[in-house]
Amino acid sequence: MDWKSEPELVEVPDPTPGPGQVLVKIGGAGACHSDLHLMHDFEPGMMPWQLPFTLGHENAGWVAAVGAGVGTVTEGDAVAVYGPWGCGTCERCMGGAENYCENPAGAPVLSGGAGLGMDGGMAEYLLVPAERLVVKLPESMTPVTAAALTDAGLTPYHAIRRSWPKLTPTSTAVVIGVGGLGHVAVQLVKATTAARLIAVDNRSEALELAREMGADHVVRSDEQAVEAIWELTGGRGADVLLDFVGADATIELARAAARPLGDVTIVGIAGGSVPLSFFSQPYEVSIQTTYWGTRPELVELLDLAARGLVHVESTTYPLDDALQAYRDLRAGRVRGRAVIVP
Ligand code: NAD
Ligand code: ZN
Ligand code: ZN
Repeated sequence: MDWKSEPELVEVPDPTPGPGQVLVKIGGAGACHSDLHLMHDFEPGMMPWQLPFTLGHENAGWVAAVGAGVGTVTEGDAVAVYGPWGCGTCERCMGGAENYCENPAGAPVLSGGAGLGMDGGMAEYLLVPAERLVVKLPESMTPVTAAALTDAGLTPYHAIRRSWPKLTPTSTAVVIGVGGLGHVAVQLVKATTAARLIAVDNRSEALELAREMGADHVVRSDEQAVEAIWELTGGRGADVLLDFVGADATIELARAAARPLGDVTIVGIAGGSVPLSFFSQPYEVSIQTTYWGTRPELVELLDLAARGLVHVESTTYPLDDALQAYRDLRAGRVRGRAVIVP
């Protein structure tokens, strides 16, 4: 395995949990577009990680074994794995936001986790370095349905939750890119706010999916998209725009269609950029990036899903076909999320 290349399927030894650690038998591992950026776009040295490691950063399964001193989970428990692994002791980690750990040197791996610098869940077993990083699933939920919630669900949940105050009944949210993350984002806006929702994508299948997930309007991602959003919002612009692509064109679209005082949140990692100036967006528009989500947010999201308010549309692939899942994702052939089931 090397940077700028496809992953390989290899035999690795089953890990054994040390003190405080949890061994999870994988029930589902999602294939994220970030893995495609990692494999094909990132230059060697861009991430502070050593190769090789096993991919798979959205995981759920059953506890297979626990190390000495583990007290909150036992063998057989169905669990979701909280993905961003921090040091566990800095102020951010203490607040549950290990996605923003301020002591990466004390974390198991620099700004990463399972499948991001350390061995991930596209395998039969995943070694989780601390019991706080697994969350028991609600009664009714199976690991295969929970896996993709840990990233394709948690990442948009965090991005939307921070903008809740702006998602009032008279407001409009825009979701750009209705893939793995975006189709959950559409449901989350509808389930947790009374805002109107416009979905934008350049694939007809994605726009259909957006409709099914509850979007009030769908708009094709082209030169007319900004105009269309202005019309649909009665000339006001949109209050919260979530960009799940992150290309030049989508960031430009988001800020051009924003209403004064709105939020533009860039989640996609396509590497786009736009010039910033006093006049480049309406007054008091906040532009931010978000990375993943917090542990308490994962607990909230699992509760929402257990009550049927949000779900992941998924296609499952056996572990032997994991490469095919990534190829399908790259070709835009996946509806919702591709989930690997070993
Ligand atoms: P995906 O491939 O499942 O979905 C991407 C969607 O965007 C597809 O429906 C595609 O048709 C659409 N799209 C592509 N170009 C477009 C354009 N110009 N205009 C409108 N729509 C367009 O990908 P995903 O797994 O949902 O990930 C989305 C992005 O989010 C990726 O860049 C990924 O790396 C990133 N990501 C970020 C975080 C984070 O924490 N910030 C977490 C997970 C994923
Ligand atoms: Zn991801
Ligand atoms: Zn920390």
